[in-house]
Amino acid sequence: MVLRPKAILTTMSEKCQWTGAGGGHRLAMRCADMRILVVEDELKVARALKEGLEGEHYQVVVAHTGEDGFFLANAETFDLMVLDLMLPGRAGLEILDACRRRGLQTPVLILTAKDAVDDRVLGLDSGADDYMVKPFAFAELLARIRALLRRGRTDQVLRLKALDLEMDLVTHTVTRGEQTLDLTAREFELLEYLLRHQNQLVSREMLARDVWKETSRATPIDNVIDVHIARLRRKLDREFPTRLIHTVRGVGFTLRSGEP
Ligand code: CA
Repeated sequence: MVLRPKAILTTMSEKCQWTGAGGGHRLAMRCADMRILVVEDELKVARALKEGLEGEHYQVVVAHTGEDGFFLANAETFDLMVLDLMLPGRAGLEILDACRRRGLQTPVLILTAKDAVDDRVLGLDSGADDYMVKPFAFAELLARIRALLRRGRTDQVLRLKALDLEMDLVTHTVTRGEQTLDLTAREFELLEYLLRHQNQLVSREMLARDVWKETSRATPIDNVIDVHIARLRRKLDREFPTRLIHTVRGVGFTLRSGEP
């Protein structure tokens, strides 16, 4: 099937009318902090998606190869991934499968020229949340993205676990084994982030950006992060035989829920 990026661009005007027709501002406010990873090798399609989604106030990061997509999906936090299937190097389904095996729960919308029923079934079986065939109407893509993001919020996990550690996100309590741990609000947030990225490498840059909401590179807070990690580690690991938080020298940290 021939990809038609122009078809995406011409439908942008529908989106603009929609945005302008009341409620647009509310949507814009809601999208502002949503990050979308677009994995797409076709440059024109990738550009159209980026511009279109940014026009809707989403933050968009584009990867042009499967390898880059896989790396970014694991290195950074996204609210949604738009994934092409036919990619140079590593195919979309392979990436999706690898991400799901690593416990990544980011909603994935497959966007592809493959439209055979078998491909759809395979995509959804591999852990995709939705599937769209190119060429597509941009307005429909936006509607599906909104639906996935809404679902992502309502299906939020209320409990996070790693080995004998449990975090209850409703009561804000953390237990390890039989012990309840007394954490400050910041330590709780930090641990929640590590738990959501367990068995992945978490860099100081990620913590600064996502936990401390520090976007200015001019304000290095590495020391602040290290102090909090040290305190958290004392509370979490000191009295237990299995350590959960590990330092990856020069890079950051990882919370391991099993043997490396
Ligand atoms: Ca492709």
